[in-house]
Amino acid sequence: MKTLFQALPAMDVCLEALFAARPEWRALPRALVRENVTAYWNGVRADIKAGLYTQPCALGLDAQLPHIQKYVQAALRPRLRRAINAAGVVVHTNMGRSLLAQEAVQAVAQAAGHYTNLELDLSTGGRGSRYNIINDILCRLTGAEAALVVNNNAAAVLLVLDTLCKGGEVLVSRGELVEIGGSFRIPDIMEKSGAVLHEVGATNRTHIRDYAAALNENTRALMRVHTSNYRIVGFHKAVSVEELVILGRKHGLPVIEDLGSGSLIDFSTYGLPYEPTVQSVVAAGADIVTFSGDKVLGSAQAGIIVGKKKYIDALHANQLTRALRQDKLCLAALEATLRLYADQQTVCATIPTLRMITMTGQECAQRARKLARRLKAKLGERAHISIAEAESRVGGGAFPERGLATSVVRVQPCACSVPELKQRLLAADPPLIGRVEEDAFCLDPRTIQDKECADIVRVLDEALHQN
Ligand SMILES: *Cc1c(COP(=O)(O)O)cnc(C)c1O
Repeated sequence: MKTLFQALPAMDVCLEALFAARPEWRALPRALVRENVTAYWNGVRADIKAGLYTQPCALGLDAQLPHIQKYVQAALRPRLRRAINAAGVVVHTNMGRSLLAQEAVQAVAQAAGHYTNLELDLSTGGRGSRYNIINDILCRLTGAEAALVVNNNAAAVLLVLDTLCKGGEVLVSRGELVEIGGSFRIPDIMEKSGAVLHEVGATNRTHIRDYAAALNENTRALMRVHTSNYRIVGFHKAVSVEELVILGRKHGLPVIEDLGSGSLIDFSTYGLPYEPTVQSVVAAGADIVTFSGDKVLGSAQAGIIVGKKKYIDALHANQLTRALRQDKLCLAALEATLRLYADQQTVCATIPTLRMITMTGQECAQRARKLARRLKAKLGERAHISIAEAESRVGGGAFPERGLATSVVRVQPCACSVPELKQRLLAADPPLIGRVEEDAFCLDPRTIQDKECADIVRVLDEALHQN
């Protein structure tokens, strides 16, 4: 073992050989490269002790340099990386939900690299408010009196309950005690805010008389939560926002609606099931409506609150608002995205999330054929490529029970298993995420961007060469 340890090259020799092989790494801090090389050799030392090496020549620089390069390259890669979504889930929470429209990408880059008037009033040169930046456009698009934007919709719900309901009761239907992935649960948020959840009705049926019977002197609000990731079917009744508004008005109580996804366009005109739009809920009289910025709206992470001015003013006065405030990059993305909604004719083409949701089954099939042709040409005998009809998902809790008709490209590797291929593609650069079926790795063209096709062909080619 001693001769094995003696065979290890000196650090400086090793670094020079590495820099000769990768001259671009000379520009990096030397200490950073050295740290990673040290970590690599520590691994080798452990392997020597474990008896994995027997020949000194296997430890020389010639034998080790390619491995060192690979190790250092992987260690230097950013942890947050671009990835390809071929899974066909449009609002894919694990993959960062929405892609920004080109206009929003530019607005973010502009705001990121420059000073801005974020809190500067350009008419006086004095202090302005970041909240004024998008309030007008939000009010115009939703028909609400006032608006406020915070970090995400979970924060929006927390802020609303903390401001309007702390120490009192909020009536919520038992059919709407929603849990969203990532541990957002209505009962838990309620508890954090200091409001008391008063459940009304039954899981499958709640009537307006259930809310009326539950009212007492401690009631602070009536709340509806969009059952965004499940649907109760069969013997089912929920109370409409209109009915709740009548009851709320009668007793001077605000009606709060957590819409979850919060769409500004009516998807039923694109052949999808009807989902209430933000405008329709505002028009129905809801006092406060909250929704996400990065679900079907197609922008950056944000919690958008719109509603009656007196309630929004109360939210502004809450200290918690300061802790939940948005940064300039998200505001830039949100403003640029919302401006695209002014043109309802083009919005489904300009906002990637909307473009992917409204893409027809025929277009998906056409794109699948094109991708399959390219893959067949490149992969040859190494995989069997075919096309099958399938369903994509909107994701993000929208349209839970309805898939979108698509066609997927099925890749069946000849020399490795499907789970093995999946693993190799996760390790690829960029990682390629697909849908794994029992006998095929499936690529859904709905969520693949045109500019990603060349990468897909390359990483699959590389993955199937690893045998
Ligand atoms: C997604 C969702 C939330 C949480 O929104 P985030 O923006 O992810 O914080 C809250 N309520 C409902 C009904 C949702 O669908």
